[in-house]
Formats: sequence, C-alpha cells, structure tokens
Amino acid sequence: MPLSVRSRLLLGAVVTATWSPCRDSFASMQDKDIYKKFLKINSPWTMTDVQLDDSKMTVSVAIEFRGEPCCPKCGKSCAGYDSRVRTWRHLDSCQYKTLLVASIPRVQCQEHGVVQLETPWAQDSSRFTALFERVVIEWLKEANFSAVARRMKLSWDEVDGIMSRAIARGLARRETCSPTRIGVDETSFQKRHEYVTVVTNIANSTMIAVMDMWPAYINAVTRHLPNAKIAFDRSHIAKHLGDAVNAGRSTESSTRSC
Ligand SMILES: [Zn+2]
Repeated sequence: MPLSVRSRLLLGAVVTATWSPCRDSFASMQDKDIYKKFLKINSPWTMTDVQLDDSKMTVSVAIEFRGEPCCPKCGKSCAGYDSRVRTWRHLDSCQYKTLLVASIPRVQCQEHGVVQLETPWAQDSSRFTALFERVVIEWLKEANFSAVARRMKLSWDEVDGIMSRAIARGLARRETCSPTRIGVDETSFQKRHEYVTVVTNIANSTMIAVMDMWPAYINAVTRHLPNAKIAFDRSHIAKHLGDAVNAGRSTESSTRSC
C-alpha cells in the first residue's frame, strides 16, 4: 500500500511513542492540511498539492493564486497579464529539502504597467521563503559565514544575498537621527586577524566624541566634526599615566645606580 507524504516523512524521522496530545489531530490531518498549518497559506492563495520525491529527497508544495488580481503598488483591480512559475526553498521537512512552487500572476496596471503580485511567504526577489531566511540570519549570529553556508547547504552568494536583504530591511526600518554623542572604538573579528572601527550613537544633548587616543581618530573627528569636544576613554588615560609613572621610576632607578 503506498504511503502518504506524511507517513513517509514520519518513517524518516524518529517518532517516539510519547507524542503529545496533539498526536491525534496531527494523525487525522491530510498532507496538505499539515503543510497549510506549517506554512500559514491563506486566501487568496491556496495549497493544491504536496509531492515527495525520494530520489531527489525533496518535498514540493504546490500553491495557486485564486483571487481577483490587483496591482500590488496601488491596490487597484487589474486585468491579468501572464504568470510565471517560481520556486522557493523553505525549511527542510525532516531530511527532505522543501520547495514551494507557485505560478505567480502578473497584472497590467494602467498606472504601473506590468507588475508581479507579491507573495506573503517571500520577499519579491528572493528564492527562499521569509522563514528560511530568518533561520539563516539567526544562525549567522551564532556561527561564521562559511559554517552557516555549509550546514544550510547554501552557496556563499546565497548566504550573502540573504544577509544583504536583511540589512536592507533593517535600514528601511531605521529612523533617521542626528546623534549628539558618538563613541568611536575598534574591535577585532575573524579570530582577531582583522579590526573594524565601531561608531556608536550615545544619546545626549552635547556633541562629544568618546574615543581612544589613536591619532587617526583624533584627526578624523577634528576634520569632520570641528565643533565636537573630544573625551578620551578613561582606561586609555589610565594606561598612559601608568606607562609614564613606570618610565619615570625606571629613569630614577638608573640615575641612582650611576
Ligand atoms: Zn498600480
């Protein structure tokens, strides 16, 4: 008897006998219902099929648009123009790579021309679902670029694209501000082989740059923020004072021994 996608996935996974009270409802669901719940596909989009391919180790989830086409830019109802089949990678279903496949309509808007409808599960240009990209970003906080690419089975360019889109979204959300206090320092990264300069906005009403005593920092602030007051980091001042005291002791000691 052929097994359903759900049964084959469950056989591929380690399923213990101590499944939660949800087990019954899970077991009574059809394959499409399970993925509908996982993916939160709602009207006007609908899931039409789920296919598991053992040879390619993939699960393909087919989605269709069944609504009135509207321009995504102005929201006006428009005539359909054509459609294009697109595929997005989603989070794996157990050991199976999971793909969403949908024919995305394009509409002819009088104001905006031919425009493709937006999908709720992915950013326009991405070939990954938003949830997949979010997991990659979370991993990038924990591990380096190469490790994330290797474990998520992604190319360097794919990880870079996911990170670039996340940065663009973050910048779009950021409010413009005029900092009045900034901190300037450097920190090492990549196992201390390289250094980056970190500029921090410290909210206050006075223009002041807090920094270590590196001449390059002093020159940059003097040139670009001529009205700023510079305050040096207390730890750097203490270190220089300590060095000066030690140098004085050393000189005094050598003078006495003569
Ligand atoms: Zn429009």
